[in-house]
Amino acid sequence: MKEVYRMTKDELAKQYGMKGLTEEQAAKNLETYGRNELMDKGKKSIFKIFLSQFADLLVIILIIASVISMISGNVESTIVIIAVIVLNAILGTVQYVKAQKSLDSLKELSSPKAKVLRDGVKKEIMAKDIVPGDLLLLEAGDIVAADGRIVESYSLQVNESSLTGESTNVEKKDMEIPEECALGDRINMVYSGSLVTYGRANVVVTSTGMNTEIGKIANLMNNTGDKKTPLQVSLDNFSKKLAIIIMAISVVVFLLRIWQKEPVLDSLMFAVALAVAAIPEALSSIVTIVQAMGTRRMAKDNAIIKELKAVESLGSVSVICSDKTGTLTQNKMTVTEVYIDGKCILPEEIDIRSRQHRYLLYNAILNNDSSISGGKEIGDPTETCLLVMAEKAGLGDKGISEEVIRDMMERQEEIPFDSDRKLMSSKYSVHGIPTVFTKGAVDVLLARTEYIMDGDTVRTITKTDIDNILNQNRIFSEKGTRVLAFAYKECKKGEHLTKESENGYVFIGLTSIVDPPREESKEAVLSAINAGIKPVMITGDHKVTATAIAKQIGIYHDGDIALTGAELDNISDKELGDILEKVSVYARVSPENKIRIVDAWQKKGKIVAMTGDGVNDAPALKKADVGVAMGITGTEVSKDAAAMVLSDDNFATIIKAVLNGRNVYRNIMNAIQFLLSGNLAAIFVVLYCSVMALTTPFLPVHLLFINLLTDSLPALAIGMEPADKSLLQNKPRNPEEGILNKKFSMKLLAYGISIAVVTQTAFYIGLKVNAASASTMAFATLTLARLFHGFTCRSGYSIFKIGLKSNKWSVLAFLTGTLLLIAALMLPGFNTLFMVETLSGFNLLMIGILAFLPTFVFQVVRLIKEHYNKK
Ligand code: ATP
Repeated sequence: MKEVYRMTKDELAKQYGMKGLTEEQAAKNLETYGRNELMDKGKKSIFKIFLSQFADLLVIILIIASVISMISGNVESTIVIIAVIVLNAILGTVQYVKAQKSLDSLKELSSPKAKVLRDGVKKEIMAKDIVPGDLLLLEAGDIVAADGRIVESYSLQVNESSLTGESTNVEKKDMEIPEECALGDRINMVYSGSLVTYGRANVVVTSTGMNTEIGKIANLMNNTGDKKTPLQVSLDNFSKKLAIIIMAISVVVFLLRIWQKEPVLDSLMFAVALAVAAIPEALSSIVTIVQAMGTRRMAKDNAIIKELKAVESLGSVSVICSDKTGTLTQNKMTVTEVYIDGKCILPEEIDIRSRQHRYLLYNAILNNDSSISGGKEIGDPTETCLLVMAEKAGLGDKGISEEVIRDMMERQEEIPFDSDRKLMSSKYSVHGIPTVFTKGAVDVLLARTEYIMDGDTVRTITKTDIDNILNQNRIFSEKGTRVLAFAYKECKKGEHLTKESENGYVFIGLTSIVDPPREESKEAVLSAINAGIKPVMITGDHKVTATAIAKQIGIYHDGDIALTGAELDNISDKELGDILEKVSVYARVSPENKIRIVDAWQKKGKIVAMTGDGVNDAPALKKADVGVAMGITGTEVSKDAAAMVLSDDNFATIIKAVLNGRNVYRNIMNAIQFLLSGNLAAIFVVLYCSVMALTTPFLPVHLLFINLLTDSLPALAIGMEPADKSLLQNKPRNPEEGILNKKFSMKLLAYGISIAVVTQTAFYIGLKVNAASASTMAFATLTLARLFHGFTCRSGYSIFKIGLKSNKWSVLAFLTGTLLLIAALMLPGFNTLFMVETLSGFNLLMIGILAFLPTFVFQVVRLIKEHYNKK
């Protein structure tokens, strides 16, 4: 069969049709060709995931421990340790698969969409539902979702670097290519995975899924490898170091016992107990679970996390660079005033009997890609509000709808709006004369204007005219409105519309468009500032408009600086660095400016979140520590580049995500602190007993019981601690700070020592009866003390302040853990397995009192501190 790019139009039409499919045909094709998805060959099998659970130094130490315990004739312990290792691996696998699933479902939420013509109507569908024969409607900012042949195009440019490696944009158009040629030269085709960087096109889909060019090489790009977050990496490093230290100490303890003339096997058991005590088995699963829960909560709050790493970065964000339109403002545009013929009038006062007024309306309606259908606004709000303005001008009353005008005149050429040029132009034949209508930013358009409409005549524009227009622009902008300028020019027959020819215009007028701030913006900005985060507005709009809005919502304060993109281009990196903290508004920026702003902040060691929606925003989104894309108005390219997508486009959602990010980090740290402090207590007791030549205080079974069962419950509950407002009252965390900073280590030590002291005391009390009772007492006290300790690790506040009800899980974890302990002590089968002695009532009471003591002391200390802080 002839290759698609070499087909004539007729052949193409015969094979695929060129007018799009009906839903029925599409469903049939979906059955025949399958989903438009790339098979993920890099996905690990469950068995592989299970096996990988054993490739951990700490697990290997446990395996060695089980062997030693078998040699020393301790069969029960061996069985328990092996059972625990396998159980742990199963749990690890289940968690991994679950976390992966939850990430996949998040991905689904932000999965790419595409616009197609189905049943003759433009529809947005999931890219994976595209089938051969669909008519794909592409525009700047889209990611091409399937391979296809262009049937209609307007200045289309695409970037095919994912396929060809060529990073420059290539022009593509509808044409026939009879000869054979290389992929890169097939300019009548677009390929899946390419980015539309400019213009628009209609494309008939010819292949989907694994049949696309990218599908053929898809196994090269399966990059689903595990991407660990910085926290996971530093925890991995921490675990490795811990394993080495544990082994070293175990060897020392073993030698010490031998030196004390203890039997070899007993000494080995001591060393094993120590190793088991020290290994925080539950640590890595807790981190994964807490992160997964955090992302789920964020998705509920409209922030969809695409990279797990973003959750951590969000917690230490110190600068948020946000777009204005739609993110800080409502993106509900209304034309409130029109400046025409030297006067300000209302939209209702536009009079179509005047040629000047008519030309303004022509421009507003014809040079416009949006529409209003059945009262529903479709497209860019800046453009739909111009159509509403035309309705207000009374066109509708005269039976002249936007469709009638558009039907009357055919668009011949166009250069779409882009935020670099800040202009949009369309060429029409008006009464037989080729006429270009251009609208855009006042400063940009005015610089290309030579004439002005004076009533219904045209004359050369004077300095006074320009001053008047600029003055009016300033008056509008100071109210925070967006101002658009309108102009036209007649051109010679055969003259093409190009970016270079966008000059020599006749000025028509200005429109002033309000876009009120979102109600929640002001509060969200204030929360950001209180949380030590600098909010910065970066917008394509005019400096005065931007500053006015920034003032209204509290981003811009007296003494701050507002810079334009042009001013930014004129200062050196050093100069920018000097004023950076003072600049709160950047106006008329280009996408390149955004990269420079992110870079300048990052050079100061700040963690930057940056929003973006446009086609050219992808590099800045990738450069930022947290790239934030807009779910509603954002282009597919920007969503693809971002680490987080806001499903409501709202600035306030970023602040919520920061709060959640901080909470996830705090909870993980608290859970780590809880687990490590408990382990430290056990290590101290084992070390003490070995130095004092006492019998071994714990059997490996005891420690595994604590580390894996009773300890994981409070740790999980700590991970679920809800976010509280106080999290937004602290400065952002320093990302350079390691896990074991001084404050953290000091607390660890204090908690560890205090639990060790009560455990050791219980051991001595038990020793009065016999060695087995001593061990039982130590085991029970350590377990219960750690369960109590779970409440202390929930937050930095006393339990009296945060209350028990605010985290029901922690109460449930405590109760379940205590029941398990009672079962281990009392149930007939269990007490032989755990080799525990039956204890007297007095000893049981002592366990309760001793175990509660450390928590009691820490809570009272906190209560006193809180009392004095209040004063
Ligand atoms: P941000 O979303 O980054 O805050 P913005 O949406 O205000 O920025 P752009 O969309 O890049 O910025 O618009 C920049 C300027 O271009 C506007 O101030 C306006 O003058 C002009 N403009 C915006 N939309 C259009 C359009 N559809 N046609 C012509 N000009 C436009």
